[in-house]
Amino acid sequence: MLTTPAPLPSAQRRTRVTDYDAVIAGAAFAGLRVLYELRDRLGLSVKAFEAGSDVGGTWYWNRYPGARTDTESWAYCMFFDKEFYEQWEWSERYPPQPEVLAHLKRVAERHDLYKNIEFNTRVEAATWDEANGIWTITTDHGVEVTARYFIAATGLLSIPLEPPFPGLSSFKGECYLTARWPHHAVTFEGKRVAVIGTGASGVQIAPVIAHTAERLFLFQRTANYVLPARNVPLDEEWRKELMHKRDEIYAMSCKQLWGFPMEDSTTRFADCETDEERRFVLDRAWEAGGFRFLFQGFVDMWVDEEAARFTQEFVHDKIRKLVKDPETAELLCPRDHRLGAKRPPLGHHYYEMFNRENVTLVDIKANAIEAITPGGLRLAGGEEYELDMIVLATGFDGMVGPLISMDVRGCEGETLRDRLTAAADTYLGIAIDGFPNMFTMTGPKCPGGNIPTTVDIIADLVGKAITHMSGHGYDVIEAQPEALQQYVAQCRRMVEPAVLWKDGVNVRSWLIGANVPGRQPAPLFWFGGMELYTGLIRQVIDHGFEGFAFRSPAKVYGRLDGPPLEARGNVVG
Ligand code: NAP
Repeated sequence: MLTTPAPLPSAQRRTRVTDYDAVIAGAAFAGLRVLYELRDRLGLSVKAFEAGSDVGGTWYWNRYPGARTDTESWAYCMFFDKEFYEQWEWSERYPPQPEVLAHLKRVAERHDLYKNIEFNTRVEAATWDEANGIWTITTDHGVEVTARYFIAATGLLSIPLEPPFPGLSSFKGECYLTARWPHHAVTFEGKRVAVIGTGASGVQIAPVIAHTAERLFLFQRTANYVLPARNVPLDEEWRKELMHKRDEIYAMSCKQLWGFPMEDSTTRFADCETDEERRFVLDRAWEAGGFRFLFQGFVDMWVDEEAARFTQEFVHDKIRKLVKDPETAELLCPRDHRLGAKRPPLGHHYYEMFNRENVTLVDIKANAIEAITPGGLRLAGGEEYELDMIVLATGFDGMVGPLISMDVRGCEGETLRDRLTAAADTYLGIAIDGFPNMFTMTGPKCPGGNIPTTVDIIADLVGKAITHMSGHGYDVIEAQPEALQQYVAQCRRMVEPAVLWKDGVNVRSWLIGANVPGRQPAPLFWFGGMELYTGLIRQVIDHGFEGFAFRSPAKVYGRLDGPPLEARGNVVG
């Protein structure tokens, strides 16, 4: 028998609105997917808060010209809705940002997810109340809501790093962060534009700017391995074929190292007898385009020193062939790290862009940006650049940043901020001991690569965990510290022999958090591949949610087996 819940104890309560079974922070791929899982499959009452004015997350904020997926469209999608998968028509191999956003909006409309999302609202804090087994979630509007479960679907790359350049606010021209691109049109025509950063964002926007800008100065600290995307429009026949392969594509994605529907190479470097044979293997992968170069060349490229060196030389040769000016070509050749130490960007005629007369590559490795001035930018060596616009593509506090941007307090008031800045560790990427009934959809050490595949697997797991609790009358689920430590050790063991770890620290790879000043580098992903990860998940489920502890607190507010809280008419604020 359910009774009207008593007011919840909270000294700082400002506005009381309502209570839910689950509250989700974020409404992009992960938030929408888990909202569907919990509301439609489990029948829970769910509320989602989203900082943007619409769904989309990354695809809402990073609306800079040239933004498009680096994953092939047929795998960068909402897999869970098969009927929708078979209807949606992608225009290109790598769809542009507006198309991805449209895809997400359409999913939200189809499933009427909008009605559960409050936009322009950021989750500021979440506090666990152990006695009652509830989370109190506070938004930036000063509203508090309570929920049994708190789901952080705040994305991997939603918190850009503060640009570290002195004098930035003194700049008199236009200044934009790729990660916070404005909704109004920005024109480059006739302007002297600086792009700072040569990660995936800088590499995507620069060639677009080069088309119309009077001058483009691209400021490069670390040369990257930019893989040719080889984007093409999807013709009718190809589209139709893909639309009917949803199951096959999904199954392949759940097996591949980074969650992409592609066959991994089985060729080891040592399998080839001559350099000619080796170049043939790499050429084939290079021509295939995109991340296929990473997975369809040498299977041991990530760990075999010789394979990595050979691959590095191979890319250098490609750059030298593509870039006419030998000095620029040499500057573009990455020498301080091997492929795999950083997340390689995909280029859309990126190297070819340097053959334009209006494009200048500025090497700031040994001659750093000293300051932004009212009229432009000055390097440590004294060189001045007069500019009309500065575009900052300087990266993110990946994985950890989105979680610690909220003041989350778990058992005994421990803060998630302290916990994750000390060690970016979770169990399976989804749970942390001391933070019960909280799930992270893309927490540190979740599988990297194709995030839609990852969130699909994790949303399913979260749904199954809650169903398991309901079936057993449990109220609280918490990762066991020993299980978390074992999982973390496994993640470390997989990364330590790899180029990512060996070279990544020196070149500030965000994949290991090495780009965040003051942060101790640590693997931010599970790099064991999707097949191993899904096997692990199956084992966890088959063994009654191995690695999780379940309990009931002294008092429980609402029960999972009753109707949703909203249906009980307990909206009290
Ligand atoms: P990023 O890869 O971290 O690159 C940041 C760039 O800014 C680097 O070139 C870095 O140089 C430079 N930088 C940072 N601080 C600097 C400073 N003080 N002085 C000079 N240069 C500085 O960031 P991103 O390009 O935004 O990409 C991050 C991730 O977002 C990608 O790896 C990808 O996962 C995702 N992303 C995906 C897509 C897509 O799929 N289509 C598109 C964009 C981004 P150093 O290398 O020397 O540190």
